[in-house]
Amino acid sequence: MMSVQTETMVLQGKHSGPYRLQRPLGNGGSAQVYLATHMQSGRHVAIKVVRRPGSDAAIKQLCNEARILPRLHHPHIVRILDFDNTETFSFLVMEYALRGTLRQQYSIGTQLPFPTIARYVQQVAAALQYTHSFGYIHRDVKPDNLLLALDGQAQLSDFGIATTAYYADRIHDKFGTAPYTAPEQADGNPCAASDQYSLAIVAYEWLSGHPPFAGTTPEIIWQHHMAMPPSLASRGRIVPYVVEQVIQRAMAKNPLQRFENVMQFSHRLTWAMQQPICPEQARAVQNTATSRTTLRRTTRNAISPAQNLPQTERTIFSHPATQGDRPMIRQKSRLSC
Ligand code: AMP
Repeated sequence: MMSVQTETMVLQGKHSGPYRLQRPLGNGGSAQVYLATHMQSGRHVAIKVVRRPGSDAAIKQLCNEARILPRLHHPHIVRILDFDNTETFSFLVMEYALRGTLRQQYSIGTQLPFPTIARYVQQVAAALQYTHSFGYIHRDVKPDNLLLALDGQAQLSDFGIATTAYYADRIHDKFGTAPYTAPEQADGNPCAASDQYSLAIVAYEWLSGHPPFAGTTPEIIWQHHMAMPPSLASRGRIVPYVVEQVIQRAMAKNPLQRFENVMQFSHRLTWAMQQPICPEQARAVQNTATSRTTLRRTTRNAISPAQNLPQTERTIFSHPATQGDRPMIRQKSRLSC
């Protein structure tokens, strides 16, 4: 396997662009991302590199990102600086996010304070709404794809599998990352509301420490189709009732039953997190906490090591109906939207 140094030399030798690779920042599955320096100015950038000849899918995703990103100018979308193909590499140059991803900042199990969640959800929702206004669907909203700039602003990244609803409909592809993928997207019919669903899962994770559904990929997809998300209270997070309602609505199985758009979800969630918590709720959660250990062992939705999925587990899904019968997990909510 070619070392970073060799890659650096090849890049320097073959590409007119003046970037020197420094160290790997992460692996997006199909591409490597490196910290690099612009040799003349000394400016740090992030470079996503795909070796050529290599995987056609990887090159296609990089080209897709390079086609979409220059059209999107938004404070909460990572900025593309350059894109080029050489005989040996295709690479995309982006602004470097000094603080890495929100996944790196907050590992699985971390419960964030309401104001922090509200701030990130508002920023990502604004980026998504803007993306949707161009007809694009991101299709891979998750903490690994949310970068954190030095000033603490979240930035949506990795548009490798972003598409338009029309195109997705034609090719019927089924990309996504299982724990964050809306049921209709898993079926190959993504829409803008699929990104709202994914952002609601991310918010659920920031609230409770874990995404709502765990297991193998087919099990998770089955739950997206069939199971209600466990209440946040059952996961030990005391939230105003309306927060449960808002999350459940944004995660409705039918995209038409979600909020009209992702900004509406963000406004509603921000408002809900400012509402008071009833004293009975606090008592109920205390009781729940006592029995939570048992719950962990006995429910399929239990928090399990399986939730520590590889950073970017992109999967081509098969329909859950083909996975055989699964016990139905329907946790009836006391709340309705
Ligand atoms: P991606 O292929 O876009 O999912 O990127 C893979 C990983 O590389 C991410 O999870 C980050 O850890 C890192 N990364 C990607 N883009 C940047 C960037 N602009 N600044 C800093 N790190 C990045």
